Amino acid sequence: MWERVKHFKKEEFRKDPDKVIPSLVFLMDEIREASGFPIIIHVAWDDSGHSPKSLHYKGMAVDFHWKVSPDRFSYLEQFCLLSQFRKIGAIGFYPFWNNPGWHIDIRESLVRTVWYRDRNGAYYYGINNLTRVLVKTLRGEL
Ligand SMILES: [Zn+2]
Repeated sequence: MWERVKHFKKEEFRKDPDKVIPSLVFLMDEIREASGFPIIIHVAWDDSGHSPKSLHYKGMAVDFHWKVSPDRFSYLEQFCLLSQFRKIGAIGFYPFWNNPGWHIDIRESLVRTVWYRDRNGAYYYGINNLTRVLVKTLRGEL
């Protein structure tokens, strides 16, 4: 399948790329294509270090950031782009990672779960909380 992936090499999916659900790989390729900017994957399938029920353990989640200045492609724009992909069941924003970025996963759900994690590691769920913090990043207030 990897020969059909345009923007990523297998190794870029880091730990055991063979354990990543293929539809997630192709989804990341679509997102990369639609954005026009390179994506750096932090981890996809993983065997530790996430919440107990994390979809990383099932190869259904990926953490990543766009390799572009948020002045050119803001976090708000990044979220709007991600939002257009209906296969994404959850979107988490991590503005305090060393390289601020996103968790997405392909959980099956009629209602998408969204959140952000603050500098103390606390999670805030819902579109209102996320929108508020995304607007703060635009204003340089975060
Ligand atoms: Zn994650």
